[in-house]
Amino acid sequence: MEKLEQIFAFINEKAEHYEQTNNLTYLESVLNTLEDVLDHKNEWAGEGASKEEIRKAIQLAILKGMRKASQPNHQMTPDTLGLLVGYFVEQFFEEKLKDSPISILDPAVGTGNLLITVMNMLDGKTFATGIEVDETLIRLAADTAELTQQPIMLYHQDALQKMLVDPVDAVVCDLPVGYYPNEEVALDYELCASEGMSYAHHLFIEQSLNYAKEGAYLFFLVPSNLFESEQSKDLHKYLKKHAWIQAVIQLPDGIFANKVLEKSILILQKQSKDLRAPREVLLAKVPNMSNKQALAAFFDKVQVWKEEK
Ligand code: SAM
Repeated sequence: MEKLEQIFAFINEKAEHYEQTNNLTYLESVLNTLEDVLDHKNEWAGEGASKEEIRKAIQLAILKGMRKASQPNHQMTPDTLGLLVGYFVEQFFEEKLKDSPISILDPAVGTGNLLITVMNMLDGKTFATGIEVDETLIRLAADTAELTQQPIMLYHQDALQKMLVDPVDAVVCDLPVGYYPNEEVALDYELCASEGMSYAHHLFIEQSLNYAKEGAYLFFLVPSNLFESEQSKDLHKYLKKHAWIQAVIQLPDGIFANKVLEKSILILQKQSKDLRAPREVLLAKVPNMSNKQALAAFFDKVQVWKEEK
């Protein structure tokens, strides 16, 4: 058995045991299993494994738990998207990463899968902060961060309220999509809807820019129709004032089960007096991942844009 399978089999066996004997959900049982490992109550099958093997094995167990519970709020960012975001973070910070580590914020960190995928790709060159409202998810993120030894400070709170976070070099976030229920807090935002409830995903973009350094890059997974909704005019206006759109990347066909759930990658840069906007916004579509030739052409296009931007 490969290491990844061994770790998954270990977590799965212990979690199923917890589930049957303690009347817990499978996801809670995974959490208890990981916490037992960290409390040294269990031997750890992940000894000697790579950080990616550990992350992927935990991810498989979490996915199994999410499928069983089918909680709509529990949406983990899949690897295909995490790896693409990681690729873009690497490209935009290529020069800076040669000198010093970068700070990353994920204000909707969930299970930590997206953030830890990116951190594993840039291993040793990042430190991060994650924010999450859901207690089970943030505990899963904390355990995965500890087992993969990624330096992440986690806060269990509503990310749209004040946060204890110093301005960061980068934001990565798979935005929660929908209306934000706390209308009083929404009033603090330029993107507060003039009528009715505000979009949480718009407020998350504004909040991310609030906690980003000048010149920072922000990598968002956004609904593909972000610029088509009835509140998008305000978003356009807001972005023009505070950020430069660097890239809008469409994702491959067929990775989302439903057209309504389709997402794109939106890359922004926070405006700075010392920098200038890119000459051109990179507009591209990631081809089907199994088409090696098309994928190579896509990466070439990104390189050419980077050199000319
Ligand atoms: N990237 C995450 C991962 O890999 O697990 C998944 C992010 S999921 C698409 C969006 C997350 O935002 C959910 O975990 C949800 O609980 C969280 N969320 C929603 N509203 C929030 C808020 N106001 N403050 C903090 N987190 C919030």
